[in-house]
Amino acid sequence: MGPNGKALKHKLSHDTEREFGGTLGALCIPVFLPLTVLFLICTSRSPEASVLQWPPQLPSTVQLWDPLAPVVLLGWIGLHALLYLMPFGKVSEGLLLRDGTRLKYPINGFSSLCISAVMLMLLLGLGAPLGYLFELLLPLAASAIAASFLFSIYLYIRSFWAPSHALALGGNTGNPLYDFFIGRELNPRIGNFDLKYFCELRPGLIGWVVVNLGMLMEEVELRGSPSLAMILVNCFQLLYVADALWNEEAVLTTMDIVHDGFGFMLVFGDLAWVPFTYSLQTAFLVKHPQTLSLFKAAVIIALNGVGYYIFRKSNSQKNQFRRDLTHPSVAGLETIATATGKRLLVSGWWGLVRHPNYLGDLLMALAWSLPCGFSHLLPYFYVVYFTVLLIHREARDERQCRAKYGLAWDTYCRRVPYRIFPYIY
Ligand code: NDP
Repeated sequence: MGPNGKALKHKLSHDTEREFGGTLGALCIPVFLPLTVLFLICTSRSPEASVLQWPPQLPSTVQLWDPLAPVVLLGWIGLHALLYLMPFGKVSEGLLLRDGTRLKYPINGFSSLCISAVMLMLLLGLGAPLGYLFELLLPLAASAIAASFLFSIYLYIRSFWAPSHALALGGNTGNPLYDFFIGRELNPRIGNFDLKYFCELRPGLIGWVVVNLGMLMEEVELRGSPSLAMILVNCFQLLYVADALWNEEAVLTTMDIVHDGFGFMLVFGDLAWVPFTYSLQTAFLVKHPQTLSLFKAAVIIALNGVGYYIFRKSNSQKNQFRRDLTHPSVAGLETIATATGKRLLVSGWWGLVRHPNYLGDLLMALAWSLPCGFSHLLPYFYVVYFTVLLIHREARDERQCRAKYGLAWDTYCRRVPYRIFPYIY
């Protein structure tokens, strides 16, 4: 190894700041979060649905096993792997990597969603009992958790064959526990099949809305028709997932793809946490039906609409600006120069707060919980968790932007003092 190689190895292994509580976080999170998933599902179907009860309710091992669950899970992942490989949609290039190359990614996630929807409608037409997903939820979640551990072990082991330029800067500390958790390899691939990109938006995200549909069908079986609350949550979350897949290319510039290695944190988040905790509201509604007046429904729809508008417009404005800053939709906006040659927006949505997209996302999160009424805390779990996640994510992004842009970032922070909530935070 030459002097440059040595310097890089030193940089990779020592200069990295540990995130998520370092080794302690890497030890506790993989135990605590899977238990949280199981606890939340159990609680959502219990009569009290109380998140504050002590000791917390956890499922027995019998409740966690159904031979159908791993079959459904692997079948679902396999189906999406096939759809990923289908030669439809365009192929986009990712950002420039450290070795000067760019990876290619198929942009066909939205087609995968549509094909999955058609297949589900056919299955429903043939009388498939989709409502059985309610019974299968705990075993399915347990299988997804087990699959996340096995898959992360595979990723950790294979990363030792990856060249050093293919490792994530933050995932090679030499501490096996932390590196396993945070992810060593940046873009692990089998041939052209990108494992991280595949998991980010497909099996888990589309799985989330399928779980929601299953809960709706269970409600139909129990009570004859879906409630307004159930329909609203299904529609709001379907819009969110469809939007993410419609704008799939934007994921190529996110922190997850550009910065984070692919380890337990992302694998578990994508395959277990998203489908089984983001669907909690619909799971809750199956056993705790709510009546919703048309007026309340209209207010909630308006809130979701405002949140979606802010979320979509701000994300699109930044994406457009990063792709082509001379485009008419962004050319008139005020910007500041940075030493890297890139500019930062200081007007438009990004002049309102430093993360307008997070603000919109949080308003939508609230709109997804409100149809579940005010009698229980559980349906608000997502808003609370998501607020904590986005505040933490904002702090991580802020650290990275300060390191990237230095003084220009400080100027931006002075010009736009609030992070997420105008005049509050
Ligand atoms: P963002 O889209 O917020 O991007 C942050 C990056 O934008 C910065 O690193 C910087 O990158 C660039 N940037 C910041 N400020 C400016 C500015 N003033 N002008 C131009 N560029 C700027 O990143 P995320 O990946 O966190 O979020 C993407 C979306 O995903 C959000 O809407 C978020 O709410 C959502 N999300 C949803 C989650 C969920 O579980 N539902 C989880 C996480 C995110 P650079 O300068 O290098 O371009």
